[in-house]
Amino acid sequence: MMTSEHVRRPLTSKRVDALPASGIRRFFDIIATMDDVISLGVGEPDFVTPEQIREAAVRSIKQGHTKYTSNFGMIQLREAISRDLSRRYGVVYDPATELMCVAGVSEGLGVAFQAILDPGDEVLSPDPYYVAYPPNVMMAGGTFVGVPTFERDEFKLRVENMEQLVTPNTRALLMGFPSNPTGAVMDRTDLEAVAEFVRRHDLLVVIDEIYARMSYSQQHICFAALQGMKERTILLGGFSKAYAMTGWRLGYVAAPAEVLEAMMKVHQYVMMSAPTVAQYAAIEALRSGEEDVQIMLGEYDRRRKLVVERFNRMGLHCFEPRGAFYAFPDITATGLDDESFAERLLFEERVAVVPGSAFGQFGRGHIRACYAASYGDLVEAMDRTERFVARCRTERS
Ligand code: PLP
Repeated sequence: MMTSEHVRRPLTSKRVDALPASGIRRFFDIIATMDDVISLGVGEPDFVTPEQIREAAVRSIKQGHTKYTSNFGMIQLREAISRDLSRRYGVVYDPATELMCVAGVSEGLGVAFQAILDPGDEVLSPDPYYVAYPPNVMMAGGTFVGVPTFERDEFKLRVENMEQLVTPNTRALLMGFPSNPTGAVMDRTDLEAVAEFVRRHDLLVVIDEIYARMSYSQQHICFAALQGMKERTILLGGFSKAYAMTGWRLGYVAAPAEVLEAMMKVHQYVMMSAPTVAQYAAIEALRSGEEDVQIMLGEYDRRRKLVVERFNRMGLHCFEPRGAFYAFPDITATGLDDESFAERLLFEERVAVVPGSAFGQFGRGHIRACYAASYGDLVEAMDRTERFVARCRTERS
């Protein structure tokens, strides 16, 4: 007989219970309760989406384009994305069979791993990594295997470090370059070494190029454009960062037709189609957004120079991030660990940054500061951080 003492079954699945809790969320919950905080925490442009893009979206709604689109997304948009990839990076995707619009790279990661992993498959990925990578691999039944990367190596992914971790169960390599959280980029030689490795071990590659447009000191190399790589690569890209369109939820996946078809099966059941209004906005972004992108990139570059220079000057060694919009200084000179540093900086000086260990064990001893905040806020945040670092030094002596 059931009694009130009867042991209840857990309400949630073991699979989801096993997912790591986001190391960032606790900070944001605290920040939400505080005044006068300058947040360098969230990886989001401070710019509003350019006006003509917003207007195109409003127009589409007024014209009554409020229905689902094809599961793959509107063909006009896929054609525009295909042209853009071909023109910029020299990689050619068939808009009809090799491209699909998704609700951001976030969804793209989910559908990619659901489509390619079987239980027990392992996925290599450089550590420090973007926080959503391990959970997406785990939700698809895979095992996430972090590959150490080091500041002395500019946080580049090195084949010798993968070689020690690859096993017969390794199915794929997941990379995001330019990198969140380190700002690292890979040049052609670095990527060619990786390509040789994945060919030798017959791996698939999931490459997150959401920050492709934000490469400040060199031309971005699209991994799929390397010789022989397109047929084993799932390329993820999107509009959130370069066009300041985080809230629109639009990205795309490009992959060999057979893999794309499998991803579409997952996408149609979890999403149906990417937001229609965002697809109209994205068509306009690709048509007329370049000037706005260039203005925003110029501004990020100016801010990047400011924060790197300021961190180094206050004694927090900061290697030069060449892409994305994050600085990843080493804070060990303060004698604090990264969590205590971030917590004290928040409470004592009201500057929010993210502890590096939130991005994996090789992020320890660093903090991530997003410089997509206004120049004035960055100057003030750097002044406050400098005061805090000086205080840590006095406490130690
Ligand atoms: N990939 C990386 C590396 C990111 O930093 C982010 C957002 O911070 C995303 C993906 C999410 O992109 P989207 O807005 O297209 O879902």
